[in-house]
Order: sequence, then structure tokens, then C-alpha cells
Amino acid sequence: MRIGHGYDVHKFAQGRRLVLCGEEIPHERGLLGHSDADVAVHALMDALLGAMALGDIGQLFPDTDERYKDADSMRLLGVVIALMKEHGYVLCNCDITIIAETPKLRGYIENMRKNLAVAFGCGIDRVSVKATTEEGLGLAGEGIGAHAVVLLEERIQKLSKKL
Ligand code: MG
Repeated sequence: MRIGHGYDVHKFAQGRRLVLCGEEIPHERGLLGHSDADVAVHALMDALLGAMALGDIGQLFPDTDERYKDADSMRLLGVVIALMKEHGYVLCNCDITIIAETPKLRGYIENMRKNLAVAFGCGIDRVSVKATTEEGLGLAGEGIGAHAVVLLEERIQKLSKKL
């Protein structure tokens, strides 16, 4: 078993889309970033890379690289999932907490879970997405933050190869 944690924050900006776990959410402001700024998927990718001890998304998808300008973070997640499979890991479960004062996310959580389950090719019961506020005390009023924790399991094929 390998555990990983990821954390990310993006600032609100006018004239940007708000995309969380691949779900576009109607809001007066979106998140600033080189890619589509899907902060929840960024935290998730860092958790996956952390579990595999393969660095972070800044190394894998540098924000100085024009290829990743306005990139769909779900597509980048696909690259990380492919890497995970290449290294012989399967997802046990992931748990994401999105920290946002606004907008209210409850109505979008199920679609977010579905989007991620499709990306992993796993059951929705392995994917948890939660939303919370910081009661106006944290940074999240000016943007959105996300934590992600993942548990990966090494496939038996890889274990037997090692023996
Ligand atoms: Mg980010």
C-alpha cells in the first residue's frame, strides 16, 4: 500500500471559468492559473505522484511550458493515471476536500465523483469529494483550496515480477 497527500490553492479571477474535478460550475469568478486551474484535480495529481514518490505536477507539467496553457486538468490527470498504471499501481480510494467560501458546491459533488471515477475506470464508491468552508477565517475567501489523500495498492503482477 502507498499513501499520498496533495494540497493546492488558486486565487479567484474575473473572466475565468470555475472548474472543479472536471465539472464546470457557474460562478461570477473563476480560478487563476496557467491551466484551467482545477485546484481539486491538481491536489489529486500531487497526491498520486506523492504516493508513487514521483515528484509533483510542477515537475511533470511546468507552468512555463506553453503546451499546458489553459490545459484541461482532467487530461493531465489521465497522464498521471497512465503513469500510475505503468508503475503497477491501482487506486484503492481517494478522498478530496475542497475548501471554498463560495460558491456552494453540494449540488455538483456527485458529478465531480463521477468524472473522477470515469478517469480512474473505477467504481464511484472509491472516490470521495467533500466541500467545506473555513468560516471566513482562512485564505479560501479569495480563492479555493483543496486537499487530496489517496491510497494505492501495488498490483500482484508487479510483486511477483520482483520475486
Ligand atoms: Mg495548481
